[in-house]
This record gives sequence, structure tokens and C-alpha cells, in this order.
Amino acid sequence: MSRLVVVSNRVAPVEEGKSQAGGLAVAIQEALKSRGGIWFGWNGDTVEQTPDAPGITQNGRITYATLGLLQRDLEEYYNGFANSTLWPLFHYRLDLAQFSGRTYAGYQRVNSLFASRLAPLLRADDLIWVHDYHLIPFAEQLRSMGLEQTMGFFLHTPWPAPEILGALPAHEALVRNLCAYDLLGFHTEVDLRCFANYIRYEAQGTVEELGAGQGLRIGAFGRSVIARAFPISIDTATLEGIARQAADTAQMRRLKESLVGRALIVGVDRLDYSKGLPQRFESFHALLDAYPANRGQVSFMQVAPPSRSDVAEYQAIRRELEALAGHINGRFAEFDWVPIRYLNKSFSRKALAGFYRHASIGLVTPLRDGMNLVAKEYVACQPPEDPGVLVLSRFAGAAKELDGALIVNPYDIRAVAENMQRGLTMPLQERRERYEAMMKVLRANDITHWRESYVEALSGVAGQA
Ligand code: UDP
Repeated sequence: MSRLVVVSNRVAPVEEGKSQAGGLAVAIQEALKSRGGIWFGWNGDTVEQTPDAPGITQNGRITYATLGLLQRDLEEYYNGFANSTLWPLFHYRLDLAQFSGRTYAGYQRVNSLFASRLAPLLRADDLIWVHDYHLIPFAEQLRSMGLEQTMGFFLHTPWPAPEILGALPAHEALVRNLCAYDLLGFHTEVDLRCFANYIRYEAQGTVEELGAGQGLRIGAFGRSVIARAFPISIDTATLEGIARQAADTAQMRRLKESLVGRALIVGVDRLDYSKGLPQRFESFHALLDAYPANRGQVSFMQVAPPSRSDVAEYQAIRRELEALAGHINGRFAEFDWVPIRYLNKSFSRKALAGFYRHASIGLVTPLRDGMNLVAKEYVACQPPEDPGVLVLSRFAGAAKELDGALIVNPYDIRAVAENMQRGLTMPLQERRERYEAMMKVLRANDITHWRESYVEALSGVAGQA
């Protein structure tokens, strides 16, 4: 069996037996363990001089190969083109996207650097699996060095419609970069269709349907590529177990005591403008306005750990949310009840599992999201005999699978409030039916199924070569 080589911006070694690690890191680890292979990427450090070779750590059958980056490289590649151009663009925020030749050059330069440092470690029959928007040009950089291995890419964000992508000065170069891979994975059929439309109408390429669930054969820029949807998921069974255990911890007892029988609505998101947090706060405000019986009876807890705080837009959204939470709490709070508990910090998986399990509503209302794992986690953590209700944005990839949720338009503040009210008053029988329908999906498509389907498709492509 050929080795697997995983490439991602950050390499996240998982310590054995730690449940702390996220599902994706564990999944990649498992894939590498079963085939043997390398996990290559940035080690999270800045250095004075670019190293000639990656640092190597061996753990069983897995080799971790990581590099530090120069401050300037990090600024242009990571904070710059990846997080200030591609991230907003892929989340339909043209108003926030910055277009700069300097950061684009830095992005290509770091991809070329990464490729040149990985190349000496590769064998001819390796399967290479590259992750996410930071590394779109990676395969083309390897190909320009004469490497012919099978290379796959998976995009963890949405892929935008051609009209949006077209705003990027380098849109054609970026899609040409993608076509240097052999397999392209997207989260949903919607992302896949957006990509296919670009190929048809902007790149004058060909798109051939390969049959149910098999994706598309794309012909463009002189290459033939398979593109297919692989909706990422969670470690459903493990999380169900964690949630059962989390129900009875000292922390959960404190939470319940603090709520004194009030219903809990929970939101958990990185503090990111794609998550629709201001609109969500406004919707909670609208709920208290439209249904005053909820005042003093319902608490909304929003966990929002800051992320990418070096980027100005993230500082701005943080200020906006502080003002909104302060405003809503100032207007409605009582001496013994605060409507919004707004927490700028992160929690462990176990703590979150307990919060999810105790919450009557999981409120997941991004304006645009590739998948949104929190939506899936919320469902998996519910007590089957008395499950809560997921209120889910139609613009999250998860909405394509979780049709047992109350699907909402996050821009429609009043409608989101109505759906919160519907969730708070939903009869037990309906809650159970919706929960069962969603769990059926999450049991069939868990994270193991996701990574096995991808690696199988990648081996399939290699077999045809
Ligand atoms: N998460 C966490 N602690 C926190 C907040 C979030 O472990 O305090 C995890 C959450 O459980 C989920 C992930 O971070 O697994 C976020 O993934 P999602 O797809 O929802 O959004 P992203 O941050 O990737 O945009």
C-alpha cells in the first residue's frame, strides 16, 4: 500500500489518548497511522532564517515534518493572501477582501518554499493529500519540479460562485493551480456546482458527470481532474460518549445552578465575521421583544474565542459584538438575570459537549460556512430521550445534510427569532423525530467515513494513472 503524505498549513500532532484534539486532527492521524506516512506543514513558529530542511519527528509510522516561517512570509502568505483575501472572498465578503500583488506573491512564494522542502522526502508512489485554501498552488509547485505523484486537495471553506471569484485579480491562475491536482474535494454539491460553473463559463473547460456520488470529471488548462463533494463530519460515537460523561461534572453542576431552571440557548463559534454573530445577537434581542415571556426565563450563552486577532477586521467585529452584547444586556437585564453570557474564550471538547447537551437550542447561524462542525456536534451531544433543537443557517454546508434542523435565513432577524421561539416550545415527539433523522445521517457519515471515502477516491485516481 502506498504511503499517505498529508500537507496542511498547521501540523497538529495528537498525543495518544487525549480527547482534547479536534476530530480532523484525529482523523488525519488515523489515516496516516493505517497507511504510514508524513504530515508536513508549518510548525507555528517564526524564524530568522528559512530552514533548508524541515524538522523531523517520528511517532510510530508517522513522520512529522515541519518548518518555521519568516515573519514577512507569515504576514504576506497567512495573514495576507490566505486570511485577508481568500477567506473573505470564499465567504462572499467582497467588501472585506483585500487585493494586493505583494501578498499574492508572498502566497505563491511560501507555497513554492513548502513544495521545495517536501519534495526530497517524497517517494514515487506516495499519495499526497493537501488541505485548505492556504495551499491551493502547492501541487502546481511540485509539478513544476517534475513530480508526478497522485495529488489530492480538500477545501475546508466554501467555494464561491464564479461572479464572486471573478473579483479576484488572480482568479484564473488560482483555478489553474487547482487543476494541477488529480482529485478536488469540496464540502457540498453547491460548492462543486460553483466550481463546475467556473470551469464551464470562465475557463471554457469541460464537465462530465460521473454518476451518483462519483463527482465530475473536469477538463481544463490541459489537465483532467476529478472533482467531488465529501461532506466533512465529526466522530459521532465518541462525541456521544463524551457528552454522556460531561452531563455530570462539577462544571455542569455549576452551570445548572447558575441557570436556576431557565432554558439555555447556546452558540459556539470562532470570533469570525462569517459566523453571523451580530445578526444572531439581534435575533435574540428580537426574541425578547416579540415574546416577552422569555425575559428572565431564557439565557443565551455565546462562546466566541478570538481568532486571527492580527487582522484588523477581526478586531472590528470584536468591538461590534462587545457593544451589542452590552446594549442588549443593559436593556433587558434584571438584578438576577443576564440575557446574554458572552464569553471570549475557548473551552475543551468535553466542556462544550456538556454545554450543548444542556441547551434547549443550538443556535448556528453563519452567513456563509463551508460545513460548520458545531452544528453536527450539537446534535450528537443531545440526550436522546429529551433532545434540544438545532436552529441552523441555510448558508452552512451542514444544512444540506441536517434537514431535521429548523433551517433559517440568518439575515432575516425576525424569522430567526420566530424559529428560536418555535424551538423553545416544540413538543417532545417532534424534537425526537428531528433528532433521530439527523443522527441517522451523522452515524452513517462520520469523520472516519469522510476520510476513508477521500483516501479511497485518491487511491482510485492513482490506480487509473
Ligand atoms: N471549538 C472548541 N473550543 C471552543 C470553540 C470551538 O474546541 O471554544 C471547536 C468546535 O467544537 C469545532 C471547531 O472548534 O469542532 C470549529 O469548527 P467549525 O467547523 O464549526 O468552524 P471553523 O472554526 O472551522 O470555522
